[in-house]
Amino acid sequence: MEDPHNIPHNQVFRPYNLSELFSFWNRFPDAVLFAGGTDLLRGQTKRLFTFPKTFISLDKVEELKKISRTERYLEIGAAICLSDILRLGKIVPEGMVAIINSIGNLRLRNLASIGGTILSTHRYSDLHAILIAQDATYELKSASNARWISASKFVTSGIELLQEEQALISRIRIPISSWSYVFHKKIGLLNRDDPDGGTFLLLCNTEKNLIMDLRMIFVGSKIIRFKDLETNLIGQTVPIGEKSMESLLVNCSDLVASEMAENKYLQNTIIRSITIALSNIF
Ligand SMILES: Cc1cc2nc3c(=O)[nH]c(=O)nc-3n(C[C@H](O)[C@H](O)[C@H](O)COP(=O)(O)OP(=O)(O)OC[C@H]3O[C@@H](n4cnc5c(N)ncnc54)[C@H](O)[C@@H]3O)c2cc1C
Repeated sequence: MEDPHNIPHNQVFRPYNLSELFSFWNRFPDAVLFAGGTDLLRGQTKRLFTFPKTFISLDKVEELKKISRTERYLEIGAAICLSDILRLGKIVPEGMVAIINSIGNLRLRNLASIGGTILSTHRYSDLHAILIAQDATYELKSASNARWISASKFVTSGIELLQEEQALISRIRIPISSWSYVFHKKIGLLNRDDPDGGTFLLLCNTEKNLIMDLRMIFVGSKIIRFKDLETNLIGQTVPIGEKSMESLLVNCSDLVASEMAENKYLQNTIIRSITIALSNIF
């Protein structure tokens, strides 16, 4: 009979800085990076969790726990938890606050790190919506190299880059900008891996009834960035006229239909969100 006490040991490394981390990782290249653990341990229902055989905890790594700001950027260490980002107050973009508050519950946000949320594998991450829309960039760091990559590029090739270079995300840099209008809608079942779900986000800046800047994105099993609409709307007057709105919606419907061909529910929900979001810009 199997001895329940004869459980194979896990190896846990708890480095204090990146140089220690990379030296452990070099010795144990299969070690898994462990931030809040909410994604890695997700779905486990037994009394004892099954942990990765060898893992490197990020919770004490000094460089990953820093937050700094300049006039133009907010820089957040990858191991900072979502709740601590909210505690930074007004400096955090409004759209980011709305999206973080929509992720899981308070207990999850107290554990889940921003780096782990970007890399969460069990589902699309709602956070991509704001990070892409705000033109955020991520620092990818390996033992010998550091480079910055845009949030939009990261969703297409970032994970492969991290694996190829045995790198991690060390910092997230978010341009500081304020928006006069933010519309955020979470679609589908909250807190579940709903293939029909996602996050719709519109950020807009108006000045004297003119649209000065606008970003619109849907993030779900696919990511749709409405670049043509964004370009067309900049310089237009608000509220958007009926005719203009009709033609914008036709263009958006075509784009959404081509991306979500087989999912009519999602197509209709996204178009409904776009209609509400655009009609409320003043
Ligand atoms: C109940 C529940 C509800 C949820 N609801 C939502 C939701 O509504 N919306 C949503 O978007 N998500 C949701 N999630 C997913 C959640 O956002 C992730 O579980 C969480 O953000 C992961 O963060 P973590 O720090 O715990 O990551 P971990 O579990 O520690 O790690 C996740 C992955 O990222 C890797 N990793 C971690 N940090 C780094 C780094 N700095 N560099 C490179 N790799 C790294 C790890 O190796 C691992 O592969 C939910 C999860 C749960 C359990």
